[in-house]
Amino acid sequence: MTMNQPAQRPFRHRHLLGIRELDAADIIQVIDLADTFMAINERAIKKVPTLRGRTVLNLFFENSTRTRVSFELAAKRMSADAVNISGGGSSRSKGETILDTVRNLQAMNPDVIVVRHSSSGAPEMLSRRIDAAIVNAGDGTHEHPTQALLDCATIRRHKGDPTSVDNCLRGLEVAIVGDIDHSRVARSNVLALCKLGARVRLCAPATMMPFGIEHIGGDETRERVTVHHRLETALEGADVIMMLRIQNERLSGPSLFANNREYSRYFGLSTRTVSYAKPDAIIMHPGPINRGVEMMPEVADGDRSVILDQVTYGVAIRMAVLYLLGAAHGTGPEA
Ligand code: ASP
Repeated sequence: MTMNQPAQRPFRHRHLLGIRELDAADIIQVIDLADTFMAINERAIKKVPTLRGRTVLNLFFENSTRTRVSFELAAKRMSADAVNISGGGSSRSKGETILDTVRNLQAMNPDVIVVRHSSSGAPEMLSRRIDAAIVNAGDGTHEHPTQALLDCATIRRHKGDPTSVDNCLRGLEVAIVGDIDHSRVARSNVLALCKLGARVRLCAPATMMPFGIEHIGGDETRERVTVHHRLETALEGADVIMMLRIQNERLSGPSLFANNREYSRYFGLSTRTVSYAKPDAIIMHPGPINRGVEMMPEVADGDRSVILDQVTYGVAIRMAVLYLLGAAHGTGPEA
């Protein structure tokens, strides 16, 4: 399959729960399709009738800016009816369980339910009890599959080999730095990057590095992932630098580092530390950025930053996912 070609085969999955369930061909299918939607998003009129008559419910029990808005825009640009429900504004705050909430929403016959929840596994639990297609928009520290898909699409566009069917990131060295332990973005990216042929260096203070993380995807990740506790070593010769936020909302008990200043000194990306990577390395962050902690403004806003490209790709990737799951066996996108 070449780039910019609409999906040639039906998507093999009923839900998108994690990258773990996808193989390289599935990932490429989503990214190729997203590339066709990128073109639509650049037009003056950014709407196609592809999902007309379908209903997408965006159910966010955790805060979100980019993911929530991009799922909503994705649904609307595909002409689906999109309804957004946040945890605080739903009957969850009156004591209803998530399963009851979703069963009631299911009774209104949506086609796709996009779920973000602080409990790892919540989307998977719902997928076993609900008819609608479930999309995981981030569950606890488990997975954030659409983030990893948009990250791989961004890396492929800047650094990869778009003609390769399943190894489009082969030979790339990707450093992921930050609170790996609490990061669903890191977990989904490790799985996705390794499936596409990249090598991954994970870097964090020992208190933020889960033991055995390199085994997360079995042989595929064990052979491709290395663990580092020194930023300079992790960045040496890297092609891609992905910085992560400290997940303060998931920390309980004693702090995992002395203070922001100390964390930033040893693990922050600055003009000095970025110089260890290749001169043309790209710099990524899933957002929200804590400026001055994991990343200095001059790097976040510098020439090599592709952080806003990631956001742009986010809409196209979510259009592709909604299309593949929502239109089920429909025709190709009417571009
Ligand atoms: N937005 C990403 C997430 O929801 C990363 C972050 O919040 O730090 O996991």
